[in-house]
Amino acid sequence: MIQSVAKKIAKEQIAPRAKEVDEKGETPWENLKTLAENGFFGIHVPEKYGGVGSDMVSHVAVVEEIAAVCASTSVSLSTQALTIAPFLIAGTEEQKRKYVTLLATSQVLGSFGITEPGAGSDVSSLRTTAVREGDSYRLNGHKVFITNAGESEIYVFVTRTSENRTRGVTLFIVEKGTPGLTFGKKEEKMGIRGSVTREVFLENVMVPKENMLGDEGDGFKILMNVFNETRPVVGAQATGIARGAYEHCLDYVIERKQFNKPLHHFQMVQSMLADMAMKIEASRLLVLKAAMMLDQHDSNVVANSSMAKCFASDVAMEVTTNAVQLLGGYGYVKDYPVERMMRDAKITQIYEGTNQIQRIIIAKEIIANALK
Ligand SMILES: Cc1cc2nc3c(=O)[nH]c(=O)nc-3n(C[C@H](O)[C@H](O)[C@H](O)COP(=O)(O)OP(=O)(O)OC[C@H]3O[C@@H](n4cnc5c(N)ncnc54)[C@H](O)[C@@H]3O)c2cc1C
Repeated sequence: MIQSVAKKIAKEQIAPRAKEVDEKGETPWENLKTLAENGFFGIHVPEKYGGVGSDMVSHVAVVEEIAAVCASTSVSLSTQALTIAPFLIAGTEEQKRKYVTLLATSQVLGSFGITEPGAGSDVSSLRTTAVREGDSYRLNGHKVFITNAGESEIYVFVTRTSENRTRGVTLFIVEKGTPGLTFGKKEEKMGIRGSVTREVFLENVMVPKENMLGDEGDGFKILMNVFNETRPVVGAQATGIARGAYEHCLDYVIERKQFNKPLHHFQMVQSMLADMAMKIEASRLLVLKAAMMLDQHDSNVVANSSMAKCFASDVAMEVTTNAVQLLGGYGYVKDYPVERMMRDAKITQIYEGTNQIQRIIIAKEIIANALK
C-alpha cells in the first residue's frame, strides 16, 4: 500500500523536478516537504514518536521508489533513517520524544557525523574529543563529508571519550546554533548533487550530559547496529537507481532504430537487458531479505545487511553504465536521465562503508560461522 503511494508520488511529483535538482545542487526542500507530508521520514518509526509504525520491508520499498526517479531526494530519506536509528537503538525516552518525533514528522533534517579526515573506513581512529566538565561535555573536532550538514537542525556526532579504540567512543546530540558548531563549504560532487555535503567543525562546543546518546563508551557498538539497519536502505537506494536507468533504457531500445530494426531486436542488446533485469531483481531480493531479518530482530543480519548494500550498489554501477552504453551518444548527454543516474550510482559503493569494507565484514561473518 505505502509502496504504491510512493510510486505515485515519485512519478507525479518527484520525477518532474529530478533534472533541476541535479542541476541546482541545492537541497530540494519542496521534495522533502512532500516526503514529510506523506510520512516517509518515519515509516519504521513507532507511532508514539509520530511515525507510521510500519516495518523495514515497507521502508526499503519506499526508498527504492523515490531513488528510481531522484537519487538526491532519496539520500534525505536514507540520511534521516541513519540519524533516527541511534535514537531508536539507544536513546532515552525523552530524547526519542524530542528528536525522533521531529525527524519523523517534519522536514527538519538530521545528520550523522562519523567520518573525519583521518578516520574513514577505520572509524575507530577518530580524533574528535568529548571531555567531561561538570555536568557538560566539551566537544572539539573536525568531521568531513557530512550529508545535510548546515541544512540539518539535529546532529549526532561520534566522539572519543577515552583512548580505547572502540570502548572509548561515545555519541552526542548537538543542535544547530550551538556555539562553536560551524560548517565548511558545500562539496562539489560527481553525483547526488541535490544532496548537500559539508565539513563540520566543532570548536569548544558545550553540551549537557543529557545530550549523550547511549552510555559513555557504547558509541562504537551502537554505530555497528545502526549500520546493520541502514545498509539495506542504501541497498534499496541502489536498486532504485538501477531500476530507474533500466526502465529508461528499455523504453529507448524499443523506440530507437538502427540497421532498419529497433535496437531490442539485436541479441547483444537483449543479453544486456536480461543481465540488467536479473541483477536488479537479485538486488531487491537481497535487500528484502535483510529488511525481513531486521523486522524479525534476527541477530545474524550483519552479513546480510552488508551483502544487500554491496551487491545492490555494484549492480547499480554496472546497470547505469550499461544503460548509458545502450543509449549510445544520447546516453552521454544531459537530455536523458541515465548519465545522471550513472553519476548518482557511484556513491552507493562508497558511503555507509565502502564495498571493500562490506566484503571484509561478509568474509569475517562467514569464517566465524564456519569455525563455530
Ligand atoms: C557524498 C558523501 C556523503 C557522505 N555522507 C556521510 C555522512 O553523512 N556521515 C558520515 O559520517 N560520513 C559520510 N560520508 C563519508 C563516507 O562514509 C566515507 O567517505 C567512506 O566511509 C570511506 O571513507 P574515506 O573516504 O575516508 O575512504 P578511505 O577509508 O580512506 O578508503 C579509501 C579506499 O581504500 C579502501 N580501503 C580502506 N581500508 C581498506 C581495507 N582495510 N581493506 C581494503 N580496502 C580498504 C576503501 O574501500 C577505499 O576504496 C559521505 C561521503 C560522501 C562522498
